[in-house]
Amino acid sequence: MSEGRYLIIISKQEGSTVKYTFIVEFKRNLRFRCLLCGRCCTGYDGGLKLELYQSDIDFIKDKRYENFYKVENGIKLMNIKEGMPCPFYQDGLCKLKLLYNFFPWNCSVYPLQVVEHSGFFIVRINPSAVRECPGLGRGYLLRDTLLSKIISGVVSIKVTSDPRGLPMDIALSLADIKWVTE
Ligand code: SF4
Ligand code: SF4
Repeated sequence: MSEGRYLIIISKQEGSTVKYTFIVEFKRNLRFRCLLCGRCCTGYDGGLKLELYQSDIDFIKDKRYENFYKVENGIKLMNIKEGMPCPFYQDGLCKLKLLYNFFPWNCSVYPLQVVEHSGFFIVRINPSAVRECPGLGRGYLLRDTLLSKIISGVVSIKVTSDPRGLPMDIALSLADIKWVTE
């Protein structure tokens, strides 16, 4: 089986004609394990933008944090000052992970990224991770770990506007996944 590009077709069941099509652009044998270097939290490439979802905000608010997010063009973003690291980054660690074993969804699927394009979704390695993440190439196969998480999250966003709006098994049960190699 060739390496490289894969096409995953996801279609909702129950009579709906809606189809979610994912083109996965990373290599099938690509591995990843986080080495906790913190580069993805510090905006090493000059700018850090982190989109938050309602479940992220609710969780963090529940821990009594304030002013940690802002809204730009209707999109909720972590309130990161220009050139600064994420406000939850401290001494090389994520405070949310350290204190509550919690990551915002977009942090939890890094180094993957989804780009919506002409009615389908491109799943790729975040360009900043390609340049800077030393965890790529180590550890577990991405196709067995974060890929299902990101697919279920995207389906869930489409259904509930939140990547954690549906349990993963329910989100994946709404998906018909086929792999097609090029
Ligand atoms: S850059 Fe990669 S290895 Fe470093 S903390 Fe982020 S995900 Fe982990
Ligand atoms: S929330 Fe945590 S993992 Fe995400 S960017 Fe901030 S410090 Fe890093």
